[in-house]
Parts: sequence; structure tokens; C-alpha cells
Amino acid sequence: DAPASGKPFTRFDLEKETELRFEVEAGDASEQVEMELVTGMAEVFGSELNRNKKYTFGPGSKIAVFTWQGCTVNLYGKPEVAYVSKDTPMLLYLNTHAALEQMRKQAERDNERGPRVMVVGPTDVGKSTVCRLLLSYAVRVGRRPTFVELDVGQSGVSVPGTVSALCIERPADVEEGFSVQAPLVYHFGSTTPGTNIKLYNKLTSCLAEVFSQRCEMNRKASVGGCIINTCGWVKGSGYQALVHCASTFQVDVVLVLDHERLYNELKRDLPHFVRVVLLPKSGGVVERSKECRRETRDEKIREYFYGFRGISFFPFSYEVRFSDVRIYKIGAPSIPDSCLPLGMSQDDTQLKLVPVTPGRDLTYHVLSVSSVDDGDEDARKSIVESPVCGFIVVTQVDTQTQVMKVLSPAPRPLPRHTLLIMDIRFMDMK
Ligand code: ADP
Repeated sequence: DAPASGKPFTRFDLEKETELRFEVEAGDASEQVEMELVTGMAEVFGSELNRNKKYTFGPGSKIAVFTWQGCTVNLYGKPEVAYVSKDTPMLLYLNTHAALEQMRKQAERDNERGPRVMVVGPTDVGKSTVCRLLLSYAVRVGRRPTFVELDVGQSGVSVPGTVSALCIERPADVEEGFSVQAPLVYHFGSTTPGTNIKLYNKLTSCLAEVFSQRCEMNRKASVGGCIINTCGWVKGSGYQALVHCASTFQVDVVLVLDHERLYNELKRDLPHFVRVVLLPKSGGVVERSKECRRETRDEKIREYFYGFRGISFFPFSYEVRFSDVRIYKIGAPSIPDSCLPLGMSQDDTQLKLVPVTPGRDLTYHVLSVSSVDDGDEDARKSIVESPVCGFIVVTQVDTQTQVMKVLSPAPRPLPRHTLLIMDIRFMDMK
């Protein structure tokens, strides 16, 4: 093709209700593809594109440009794959949005609350994408929905190992996703709910409670309802966690992506007034390898400290004396019931704060900075159920001088001295 601005590009003419799917090769940090809408109208995961604007996508991006009316799109650079598909479930997703919007209208009329929606399914079926789509559509028609992120492996809101809630006030940015100002974030500490399912369920309940309180005070939030993204673990305790979530959030609608058995199980186990809907996954959703998932997690942590694209952050590195902080892990290793101290149950051990003695093995661990300090017994009890105010990474430990070096988004001192350790590690290669 003729290079208009010096760069070679490929032009795609899309008919109505089709989508252009493309991927940018992962691994090489310099890899990128630019996309430009030349004629017509189109959207990326529910966010409308501006015409004649070049959007840049970095390594590992997997994008779909969908058009309701038809359009022309240019791709600059070398995507790993790029093709147009006529076979997309977008119409079904739009209908789902229309049904939810109907429920919001009714809620508005009857002075009730709007739909609380839980999106479930195995990994790599496009759960996060469907959440983003429904949230962007809702905000585009003037709603203020809340996004609840329960996927501790691939959080769209904060670093991995957390659960969170975010009020959505504008559609997702085409390149960067939702603006994450002032999310409410809780420490979970690992990338799979299975490492501490009691804690996971507890935090789900905490988020549900905070959301309900907000709905009581804020009518728009109540009518907007929420969209809950969940983990891809849908068996055993993972399944029980979904049922728990449905009950604690009092969800009205469950969207099951591409999993008939899960659909039938939820229909059987949830109260009859909960609408359980089976939706197909998009053929465009690409399966990600373990390695790819790990890279995405790493990238999310790097973004937290160093920023993203146009916005660079400059993190601080400083020393913290062991004696100035208290580090805890949530959950003691489970021990047989017969060995538990009198009056204590397994639940207590999983939610217990266990002091961590700083040692060399702390190096590279991500630590959450709790929003409360462990002044007394009561405060200590509330730590597990309190949000965090940020994260640091331990980059060096000196046991001789009893000092550790940390990477922090803010200059010293630490805002609080209670730190919660994650299983997750981050090696700063910058
Ligand atoms: P899940 O949350 O179920 O693990 P995601 O929503 O994160 O799945 O989707 C996995 C990947 O597939 C993401 O990188 C997303 O950008 C991509 N993707 C989703 N839908 C499409 C589509 N229609 N075409 C191309 N890529 C897509």
C-alpha cells in the first residue's frame, strides 16, 4: 500500500456488524501497531473511536475494532495477525446491555436499585472484555455503574493479588482502559483465590458491603448497579466463591460465558429470581499461556510504579528500618482441627495476621501498605478487612543492619507502618 505518512499501512474495509481483529507481538518492548479510523464509525470494546486519530497499541495487545454501520480502518506497523471477522457475538452483548438498561430505567421509576451483574466463565473467554463493554455502554447512556474486580490473577484495576471496586464515570480509554482514580483496593496477596478461599470470600463480602452503603447514599450509583468480574476458577471452592459472591452482592443477573455446565449449575443453585444467561464467547478472544499471564501481571506492577505510555511516574527508592514497620502475612498454614487452640476454628487461622520476621527471603516481594495501623487489638482485627493505600516492593534486605530497601511510588516516609506481604514478587529490571 501507498505510504501516506511515510509509514507502510494496510487498509481494511469493514462491512456493517463486522470486526477487525489484530494482535501485536509480545515480548519485544518496542513492538507497536497504530490504528486509525478513516471513514465511518467504529468502537473498541465499547469505546467509540475518533476519526483520523492514530491509536497506539503496544506488545501483546489483542484488539477488536467493531463497526455497526461499516467503516475503513488503517493499520500502521506489522501486526502479528490481522483479519476481519463477520462472526461476532456483539449483537448479543448489545442486547444484554439493552436489557440491563431496561432494568435501570425501571429501577429509576420504582425507586429501586439497578442491576447487579456477575460475569463468570473459565479463563480466556473474554470476561474482562464483556465487563468493559457493558460498563462503557452504560456510562455512554449517562449511567454511573460500579466495576467490581474480583479477578486476583489479572486485575484490570490495581496490581495482581488484590480485589477492588471502581466507580465508572466515563467510557474506557481506547488505549489505556478505564481511568483508575481512587479505586477501593483490598489486599488478597496471591494470584489465585485457592490459596486462601476464606479470605477471598471475606473480601468479596467487604466490597459488597461498601458498595451497598454507597448505593444507600448515592442514587446514581444505586441505579447504575454494578458489573462484577470474577476469576476463571469455576470448580470446587472456586464455584462456591461464585455462589458466595452472588449472594453477598445480591446479584440479579449472572452472565455465563461459554460454559454450559457452569450455567446449569448456577441455575440450579442460585435463587429463582436471579437471571442466569448463557452467552457465547467471541472467536476473537485469544488463549493466553501461563507465561503470557505472568508477563501481564509483571507489566501491571511495572505500570503501578513507572506509569503507562504518555504518563511516566518516577518511583522512589529508600531504606526502611525493620523496627519502623510491622509486616504480616494473612493466614496461618492450616493445621489439623485437633491441634487448634481451644475455641479457635480453621476460619480464624485463615484470617489471622501472622507476623513476618524480615529476612533475605523478603526480597522482591510486593507488600501492601494497609490503611490502618495496628495500634491495638481492635485495630489489628480490622486490618484484614480494611482497604490498602498503596504498594511497595522490597528490593534489598540487610539483616546485619536490620534495614530493607524499598521501591515506593511516594517519597519517604511510608504513610503507615503496617505492611501485608504478597506471594507475588516483582524484579525491577529498569
Ligand atoms: P478473560 O477475562 O476471560 O480472561 P479477557 O477479556 O481478558 O478474558 O480477554 C482475553 C484477551 O482477548 C484480551 O487480551 C482481549 O483484549 C482479547 N479479546 C477479547 N475480545 C476480543 C476480540 N473480539 N477480538 C480480539 N481480541 C479480543
